[in-house]
Amino acid sequence: MRYHSHLDRSVEAEFRDALLASLAPDGGLWMPNSLPRFTPEQMATLGAMDFADCAAQLAAHFVDAGFDTGSLTALCRDAYDFAVPMTTFSGERLDPAMPPDADDFILELFHGPTLAFKDFAARFMGRAASTLMIRSGERRTILVATSGDTGGAIGDAFLDQDGVDVFILFPMGGVSKVQERQLCTIGEAGSNVRALALDGTFDDCQALVKEAFADAALTGRFQLMSANSINVGRVVPQSFYYVWASLQAKAAYPMRDLVISVPSGNLGNLTGGLMARRMGAPIDRFVVSHNVNDPFVDYLADGEYRPRPSTPTLSNAMDIGRPNNFPRILSLFGGDVDAVREAVWGTSFDDAQTARHIRRVYQETGYLMCPHTAVGHLGLQAFRDYHDESDATWITVGTAHPAKFADSLEAIIRDDVPLPPPLAKAMAQKPRVATLAPTLGALADHLASELE
Ligand SMILES: *Cc1c(COP(=O)(O)O)cnc(C)c1O
Repeated sequence: MRYHSHLDRSVEAEFRDALLASLAPDGGLWMPNSLPRFTPEQMATLGAMDFADCAAQLAAHFVDAGFDTGSLTALCRDAYDFAVPMTTFSGERLDPAMPPDADDFILELFHGPTLAFKDFAARFMGRAASTLMIRSGERRTILVATSGDTGGAIGDAFLDQDGVDVFILFPMGGVSKVQERQLCTIGEAGSNVRALALDGTFDDCQALVKEAFADAALTGRFQLMSANSINVGRVVPQSFYYVWASLQAKAAYPMRDLVISVPSGNLGNLTGGLMARRMGAPIDRFVVSHNVNDPFVDYLADGEYRPRPSTPTLSNAMDIGRPNNFPRILSLFGGDVDAVREAVWGTSFDDAQTARHIRRVYQETGYLMCPHTAVGHLGLQAFRDYHDESDATWITVGTAHPAKFADSLEAIIRDDVPLPPPLAKAMAQKPRVATLAPTLGALADHLASELE
């Protein structure tokens, strides 16, 4: 597959260069030149596979000739060695052979090693990038800005890989306690993964990373590579689980429509979903659900896009005022807001609504949602109420394990939130972190002191 800049179709690159360069030379975001379009018969074959094998079949369309089917299957089986369940609040699993009598499911994408859906993209991207670097004998320095979950997933995916150094930039005090400890305990002292606490917001972290990539001298000096969702290697794998999950849901309930709600921030997850739908995944409509940082909801309402500074909320991974995949969505729909609206319905919720919903569902069913997933489920409910619809399969994308937000959730449900073993282990370790002013000069000096 070849890729082009969203700003100019004539600026093209192979998969390798699109992945390693992150941004096109004209500053645009890379987009695949085409999306495969699967027939219903091909889709049925994909739906009968397990997730990792389905992912490998899909991935084959997006990489280059250096990755054959066998190596992609091995890569995906290694990357996706965890469960991808769809469950009701009462714990019934959606199984196409034995569907429960239910319509409201959480697609739990948080059973990977860092307990958030970011593992799906990071583990594919990490393995693909490392395959390319082993082939060419190069080095890369990965800069990743994180609002909490991306950094952990990228750090874990690249830990101890030859030829790669990783610097994770997070907003000081802007991520949960558990997330912060997780970010600052990846690997041992002296490992290739380092955490940097930035004196600023997530938008500042993201802006600093963008500034670094726009600086050709700095990019060349440190061989910088981005692992944020500006990188197309992050977005493409996020289409895989939409294809697979929608096929499971359709197999279980062939006569029902399928509506999927995506709790969103940078819109990378939704972009993956929209690509899957374009490839033929049987998804009738997306609901995009935001916290109060909702410029995309305004865009859907009146066609005007007004990015703005972010406001901190309970669902901190979605505290994004300038979603960096917005241009990709426009590009997919040729800038036609009515076409976007036909695929996506959007809404947003404040922290009080989110906390109330978490508490109510927990008290009524015992199911505990992370704040992001709760925003997603609220969006689905709002869509159902608004459209007065009942005959559909409703899926909310569960983006993180609730224990990652134990500090805020314990105050909401007034109950203990037990930590699963990987998090308990991180909490017991001593954090390793440096602090940084949000300026390009400070970042350059820090990289030089660590790498040169
Ligand atoms: C990253 C993240 C989101 C937002 O995903 P985007 O692709 O940025 O829209 C939602 N929930 C959690 C838990 C996340 O880590």
